[in-house]
Amino acid sequence: MIATLKCRKCGVELPESEIQLSHDVPRYMGGTDKDGRHYLCKRCHSIYENIIPSIVWKNIDESKKKFLRNKIRYFAGSYFNDK
Ligand SMILES: [Zn+2]
Repeated sequence: MIATLKCRKCGVELPESEIQLSHDVPRYMGGTDKDGRHYLCKRCHSIYENIIPSIVWKNIDESKKKFLRNKIRYFAGSYFNDK
């Protein structure tokens, strides 16, 4: 019998290997287990992770946004090998 886990968001039940442990505050932002975590399917985890930057963006000032837009443009240039 294969162990299964249920996605906390959509309720789909999947083999344990296809469920991911999602930290409510992403670890790359300094989040820890104490901030909360949930088991999510890959789709729900991806959606959740993609919402986080919009929350961050809404709460930073315009000078930092300008700085970050430049950093992102620079990253995109190297990511896509633009000249
Ligand atoms: Zn899900």
